[in-house]
Amino acid sequence: MKCKHCTQEAVIRMPEHRLKLCGEHFDAWMLKRVARTVKRFSMFTTDERLLVAVSGGKDSLAVWDILTRLGYAADGLYIHLGIPDGDYSDVSQRHAEAYATAHGLKLIVADVAAETGRAVPDLVERRVGRRVCSACGLVKRHIMNDRAHRGGYAALITGHNLDDEAATLMQNNIRWKTGYLGRQAPVLPARDGLTRKCKPLALIHERESAAYALLHGIDYVDQECPHAARASSLYWKGLLSDMELRSPGVMLSYYSEFLRARDEGRLTVQEEALELHPCPNCGQPTMVDGACAFCRLMEVQHDDAH
Ligand code: AMP
Ligand code: ZN
Ligand code: ZN
Repeated sequence: MKCKHCTQEAVIRMPEHRLKLCGEHFDAWMLKRVARTVKRFSMFTTDERLLVAVSGGKDSLAVWDILTRLGYAADGLYIHLGIPDGDYSDVSQRHAEAYATAHGLKLIVADVAAETGRAVPDLVERRVGRRVCSACGLVKRHIMNDRAHRGGYAALITGHNLDDEAATLMQNNIRWKTGYLGRQAPVLPARDGLTRKCKPLALIHERESAAYALLHGIDYVDQECPHAARASSLYWKGLLSDMELRSPGVMLSYYSEFLRARDEGRLTVQEEALELHPCPNCGQPTMVDGACAFCRLMEVQHDDAH
């Protein structure tokens, strides 16, 4: 199997783009595709300071690597959630730190247990039926926005890839969650104390970012979070991967046609009138009256302790 552009052996086959590429040409292709995605959705410029949320996994390390190579000024943020299973959080932190050190980049580490007095699994309140993953998502969003806002960063970057985006779209589609559909985008503009959020890998398949990481010798955590509730997103990704095998390109067209339809006003999604106001406790923007979900989660824990 030869590269489409040269005589070298291809290291990756991308049937959805009718491309087989050698390491060198695949690398160039990735850089160009991410650079184009950033421009097409007007994500950020080289004059802005970016904060990349780094989990230690392939996608967030790849996006940090690519953005830095493209000349963007990006610091990293690792959130230690205190997940003890298989030393998941410690191992992930070591991968994020090793990458930052090797590349001379700044990594901010936020330790949930040190800040709130409890690790995420202990924050889970059974009475309100919260699962670890939903508490985890809530805590991550709160800390990411807090650090980005306080650090004066122009945008917060996550490693969400095409497979993640297509799976989210499918879940919201099937349940007809029009509010969520209206808010799913590669860029969410800043507003009312919420930092702009960007997903530069939104058009990059998971296997492509994995190939990029391997090619660059990026040592990433290959383990999913051990908490089982993640299985639901894995289920949807599995379905889409099966579809992709039968009809290459289906994920990309599903997601990009959704974006196109929305941009052209062919999709009437219900834009929820989300009024945001500062949480009286922590000051972060929230939709609910009174304390934000994060502060309420902490509150329940303190009550329990009495
Ligand atoms: P996930 O929800 O685990 O699929 O992660 C989606 C994105 O959130 C990743 O690509 C990272 O950018 C970010 N992220 C996930 N976990 C962490 C973490 N512990 N610390 C910082 N960023 C994270
Ligand atoms: Zn080549
Ligand atoms: Zn709050």
